[in-house]
Amino acid sequence: MTRPIRAALADAAPIPFWLDSPSAPPAAAPLSGTTRCDLAVVGAGFTGLWTALLAKEADPSRDVLLIDGRTAGWAASGRNGGFCASSLTHGLANGLARFPDEMPVLERLGSENLSAIEAAISRYGIECGFERTGELEVATAPHQLAWLDESVEQARAFGHDAVSGSQNTRRSARSHATAPACGCARRRQPCTQAASLLPRTHSVRCCGARVRTSCRSMTTCW
Ligand SMILES: Cc1cc2nc3c(=O)[nH]c(=O)nc-3n(C[C@H](O)[C@H](O)[C@H](O)COP(=O)(O)OP(=O)(O)OC[C@H]3O[C@@H](n4cnc5c(N)ncnc54)[C@H](O)[C@@H]3O)c2cc1C
Repeated sequence: MTRPIRAALADAAPIPFWLDSPSAPPAAAPLSGTTRCDLAVVGAGFTGLWTALLAKEADPSRDVLLIDGRTAGWAASGRNGGFCASSLTHGLANGLARFPDEMPVLERLGSENLSAIEAAISRYGIECGFERTGELEVATAPHQLAWLDESVEQARAFGHDAVSGSQNTRRSARSHATAPACGCARRRQPCTQAASLLPRTHSVRCCGARVRTSCRSMTTCW
């Protein structure tokens, strides 16, 4: 790590952003002793929270227990960039390079998935700053402009509303090779979302699932 980066991070604390907020709900009480449930879900990240939510939606009478060794949102789900894109393959180019034959299905599923997330956020009134803003791809060097053109073509081929930057933007990109960012391609259809895990925990609780965290000894939970 360079000195300027070290200096910039000097007063940063390695705490998940969503947990380091006065509005963060308190952690659920630890599970102690023996308990029974219809379905136990281990891990209160996005995967576990979503699983518990879907399980309760499918059968509200089901007793769902969601347990975590630390606390909800402690791990990757509380530390990510907050971008919620429709792509299941980390972008079209990556998907086309690996699963060319399956891309139409993967794109459809990704799109349905994103719409389902949006619908659930709306259904439960989850305040997570969800915005269907689209994606902006930028070139930071002139030779990357061709990649952006390719990206726009691929996006259009899969039905996305993709546009290239103006000639002015492109000229600027060419004449300022060292400029940090030269905007050029924009895809309107996919969504970028500032997602928060904690409101989802709330929605899981609203749904009636029991949430227990800080349960370090998993064997006692079963
Ligand atoms: C730095 C970073 C940036 C990212 N940016 C993005 C992004 O912008 N957009 C995006 O879509 N994705 C992003 N991701 C990926 C995304 O965050 C993860 O794919 C997602 O959060 C995984 O969720 P999860 O519930 O499967 O796992 P986690 O969030 O890791 O949750 C797992 C939970 O299980 C618990 N657990 C594990 N083992 C046990 C056990 N034995 N007993 C009890 N509890 C246990 C842990 O304590 C933890 O709380 C990013 C990831 C990282 C790390």
